[in-house]
Amino acid sequence: MPQHRPYFNPKVETLPKDSLRELQADMLRDVVDRAYRKSPFYRDLYRKAGIVPRDIKTLEDLRRLPLVDKAKADRAYPFGMLMCDISQVRQVHAATTPSRQMLPIYATEKDLEDWAERCARVLWMIGLRPGEYLQNAFRFGLSTGGFGFHYGAQKAGMISIPASVGGTDKQISSIVDLGVEGIAMMPSFGLFLGMRAQEMGIDLAKDSNLKVGLFGAEPTSRRMKNRLAGLLGLKAFGEYGMNEFLGPGMACQCVVKKGMHAWADHFLVECIDPATGEPVPEGNSGELVWTWLSAEGTAVIRYRSHDISRVLWKECLCGRTHPRIRRITGRTDDALSIGGYIVYPSRLRDVMLLFPEVGPFQVSLDSVKGLDCFSVKVELREGVDIDPVVLTKRISSAVCSYLVCTPLVEVVPRGSLGLEGVDPPFRVIDYRRSSGRYGAGD
Ligand SMILES: [Zn+2]
Repeated sequence: MPQHRPYFNPKVETLPKDSLRELQADMLRDVVDRAYRKSPFYRDLYRKAGIVPRDIKTLEDLRRLPLVDKAKADRAYPFGMLMCDISQVRQVHAATTPSRQMLPIYATEKDLEDWAERCARVLWMIGLRPGEYLQNAFRFGLSTGGFGFHYGAQKAGMISIPASVGGTDKQISSIVDLGVEGIAMMPSFGLFLGMRAQEMGIDLAKDSNLKVGLFGAEPTSRRMKNRLAGLLGLKAFGEYGMNEFLGPGMACQCVVKKGMHAWADHFLVECIDPATGEPVPEGNSGELVWTWLSAEGTAVIRYRSHDISRVLWKECLCGRTHPRIRRITGRTDDALSIGGYIVYPSRLRDVMLLFPEVGPFQVSLDSVKGLDCFSVKVELREGVDIDPVVLTKRISSAVCSYLVCTPLVEVVPRGSLGLEGVDPPFRVIDYRRSSGRYGAGD
């Protein structure tokens, strides 16, 4: 494949908008029909709404389909959204819901190939080329972070280093010694990596071959991307993905950096008024709702992201015709992103209910050296006599087991949290919002 070519898949990436919309309408009819026939969850949902697949003829008919959110999708556990024979499934990943830590997402061989293609387009778009290294420090596990870019790098002829999270010193050595050109990671880890390198006497901006960085899985402001660019000596790009759609490879910034291109031959992205569910005029702010048009294994149709953004179909200066979503400016639910994981305060409360000794509690989130710091202060109920060291260890272990993240737990004097009379008796304080993590701009 010629190195100078600006697009990984020129034909598809520059397909005229009208052709893309026509393609989307065809794919929508097809996926609704398959979901109705094969997914018990969607069949039940559409029957209750009085809808049959032949009602969906055009993209305008999309609005007739009920919206699905995480709470509703929870009812599909474990096989409700599956829409192929289980023998066709090759890989299972998972999304989280407010009441469950795992909602399985099934991928067939075709889904994995599509995933690799989308991620290859992303890596090519930001400037990586065959023969160059991608050090991939997203997690490899049930949540989809690492795998997509691993497959994408291989498909595009790059060299994938599946570094995953952690092992910071080793990651720095690998970047410097191998001459790595591209990295993919959470922005907080990028900052940590850059600062740790400085402690080791290494200036990655001067001493490495890095040229591009792909940053995602947690909110990133323009200020933070500029900081990463300076610290690591690279061009920083933002990417967007949701585990319900296999995560990476949904949308990414191009070199123009006026939004993230969402691959319209695989996904249909709407922007709605979160209060009414009605579409907002193009370019206006609203909640993103996604439909996985090309899916074979898992039906995910009109799925609420709870992410607030804008959608633009105007052709980009880079020549790509696929719509762009702008920076995520907030959420319509109370989900928290901690170290790249989505955590619901309601789940934290469920975990605390396992401890009858505990009364009111307070969750604090802060950013220390770019990394998320997650702490929980608890008050004991009246009359409880327990070794605080033992209790904090048990709470910390339970929270880690249910939510994957390990908090710092502290027992504080009764009444000190000021939560008497508050129902439910807990609060969440996110100091990161004033720390530059959630800034303005793209
Ligand atoms: Zn562009």
